[in-house]
Amino acid sequence: MFEIRTRSTDGRARTGTLRLAHGDVQTPAFVPLATRGAVKTLEPRDVEALGYEMVLGNTFHLYLSPGPELIDSYGGLGAFMRWTRPIITDSGGFQVFSMGHGSVAEEIKGRGRGRGSTSNGAILEIAEEGVRFRSYIDGSERFMAPETSMAVQAALHSDIALVLDECTPFHVSRDYTARSTERTHRWLERCLDWHAQHGPRDQVVYGIVQGGVERDLRVASAETVAASRCGGIAIGGSLGQDKPQMHEVVDWTTASLEQSAPERPRHLLGIGDIDDLLIGVGLGIDTFDCAMPTRLARHGVAIVPDPDARWRVDLAKASFRNSHEPILEGCPCPACSAGFTRGYINYASRAGETTGPRLLTLHNLSYIQRLMADLRVAIDAGTLAATVAAFMAGAAPSVR
Ligand SMILES: [Zn+2]
Repeated sequence: MFEIRTRSTDGRARTGTLRLAHGDVQTPAFVPLATRGAVKTLEPRDVEALGYEMVLGNTFHLYLSPGPELIDSYGGLGAFMRWTRPIITDSGGFQVFSMGHGSVAEEIKGRGRGRGSTSNGAILEIAEEGVRFRSYIDGSERFMAPETSMAVQAALHSDIALVLDECTPFHVSRDYTARSTERTHRWLERCLDWHAQHGPRDQVVYGIVQGGVERDLRVASAETVAASRCGGIAIGGSLGQDKPQMHEVVDWTTASLEQSAPERPRHLLGIGDIDDLLIGVGLGIDTFDCAMPTRLARHGVAIVPDPDARWRVDLAKASFRNSHEPILEGCPCPACSAGFTRGYINYASRAGETTGPRLLTLHNLSYIQRLMADLRVAIDAGTLAATVAAFMAGAAPSVR
């Protein structure tokens, strides 16, 4: 299901095509979040027109509401939300285990993983069988086992399902991380067993590499997941306390996978700042998902080619009130090409008009999509290093 077209001669970058039940996905690719069955503020046709070929739905949130039975009765998540292309579903492990951690405020500062706040829920018990927790919606007691997550994802009819993992946080001991990672490996086998018996034939299952920030645990986890029957491999869990450490953990993992599973696709969970995309592609990541572009848009923040400002400009600031400038000069996105000014975005964001977040979501997602397209072209042309250096120095993605 994964055809690699070009392998970079320096580094691990590659281009390829994921051939999935609902269509093809050109990689490396960014995957916008449709966490609760909607890319916030957009319609599926908007997302498709921007050039995206896959979105990510979240098993945890959709399990609690509206529930897998209802979505199944519409023919699956794609049919329900009117998105005809591929969908990857997250297993729910991150949400279950991050309850009480990571607020929206932390996520926007880049510390959280950005896969939806669950701050009102609570974990009641983590056991070998599964996790008992309290729903953040109505306080009811719920249970998720590896088999539950796979059954929900089968009902959602996603193209790619992720196994249930224990998402180990950064602050726990090495001993806890080691024991937790071993349980994640046992859950991987249970997920694959369930899927082999009951799962949709055309659904691909990705295993998840854990192991915290311990090199030997990460490598051992990568080898264990690579030795399993999974069709692709995701990298999850705590990736460290800062970007250099996160890039190091990804480096260890993909270096190992390059040996043990060179032909299988790799997904980096919940990471997608511009510099992370540039570095991650070089380390051999094929797909990324992240709340960043859509969440920033809802806070009045536009993505711009300004590395010193972390590629961000906060248009909700009072200083943009009288700005007749476009969001980004020369940007071909639907918002910029229609002539919307920074001053209008400033007004609409502050006035609570949903048009503001919608315009910035279109702009931010267009920016990321064009950046990824440029990286694919550069890998095929053998010019990735120069292209990444140009983006790191403040170049804007191509107009296409
Ligand atoms: Zn734009």
